[in-house]
Amino acid sequence: MKTIDSINFKGKRAIIRVDFNVPLNDKYEITDETRINATIPTIKKILTDGGSVILMSHLGRPKNGPEEKFSLKHLIPTLNKKLNTSVIFASDCIGTETKLLAENLIGGQVLLLENLRFYKEEAKGDKAFSEKLAQLADVYVNDAFGTAHRAHASTTIIARFFPNTKVFGYVMANEIASINKVLLDTKKPFTAILGGAKVSDKIGIIENLLQKVDHLIIGGGMMFTFIKAMGGEIGSSLVEIDLINTANDILSKAKQMGVSIHIPSDAIIADNFNNEANKKEVASFAIEQGWMGLDIGTKSRENFKKIILDSATILWNGPMGVFEMDNFAEGTKTIAMAVAGATTKGAYSLIGGGDSVAAINKYDLAQNVSYVSTGGGAMLEFMEGKVLPGIKAILD
Ligand code: AMP
Repeated sequence: MKTIDSINFKGKRAIIRVDFNVPLNDKYEITDETRINATIPTIKKILTDGGSVILMSHLGRPKNGPEEKFSLKHLIPTLNKKLNTSVIFASDCIGTETKLLAENLIGGQVLLLENLRFYKEEAKGDKAFSEKLAQLADVYVNDAFGTAHRAHASTTIIARFFPNTKVFGYVMANEIASINKVLLDTKKPFTAILGGAKVSDKIGIIENLLQKVDHLIIGGGMMFTFIKAMGGEIGSSLVEIDLINTANDILSKAKQMGVSIHIPSDAIIADNFNNEANKKEVASFAIEQGWMGLDIGTKSRENFKKIILDSATILWNGPMGVFEMDNFAEGTKTIAMAVAGATTKGAYSLIGGGDSVAAINKYDLAQNVSYVSTGGGAMLEFMEGKVLPGIKAILD
């Protein structure tokens, strides 16, 4: 893998595509710094070599040009603190002034470019726009795993202008290594735990994983589409009726392939989508009308815990229930603790996707698992077996 470790950046200008798409509150303060923290080692390696750094990212989904709430300038105080320097800001990501700022950089300095998505050309993968960005630097570093599934100007097209000087940063290198460890260098038994709201988001990943896993645990809202497919009564639980046939196909494929699919046998149901709703525990196949399943039940938790603790490789994507509400969080918490426990026993565990990451952080267990992925959509597409354009662009 071509990483920043193969280059001595002394006297060089590196343009890094980072994923600084961080959540901001009303006062433009960053409420979760995970993505910034992840990429600091990449930036520091280049600065320590004596190189200078140009940071480029998107933030949010601006519709029509610049918008105050999507300005990357809000990140300056945090970056100054973390990098122990005074970051220079370019209020436009391209143009004469920005070019001048880039050319005047000296070793150890950092230039932050304004939001790339203030230009429509970014998401269109425009070649001329990519070339303007490329002209700012000697080396292109891609460290934005979260956008590696997009063929945008800054994530993919720009790489063409650096035929011999394009490399992965540490975030990208670690993400690729950890997914490959799970999919290619798999220690058995391999258990995948999939949850979250919708089956439709996860069909691709389920189909790819069926060829690799020993156990597939299904929880969250998506379990009810499977239960319905198996003839169960699910009350007013979340369901995707148009995917009932797909769920049946998955169940029979799993049988043919010798994969054990575990669908929760019990559930915590509520008479309302609300933390304070009345709740009770019932068989997940016999939910009465007017009630909805919002968490997996106690028997299922115990059963899944055992499977997880006996696994050597674990992939977890998506919560087991509506874990944001404390009364329906126990299933997700049990899984999080079991994954951490299996890791202590020597298993390799990869946690991916926004909400399972939020869950592992909620229980303060991020340090107790092998790897927490920074990418949601990108991680899912990689797991589906797709070639991500941002990765391919560096390898080509
Ligand atoms: P996803 O983005 O597909 O991973 O879905 C995550 C979301 O699924 C979280 O916000 C959970 O609250 C939600 N979720 C999990 N279980 C259920 C459920 N049984 N019913 C409705 N929503 C759920």
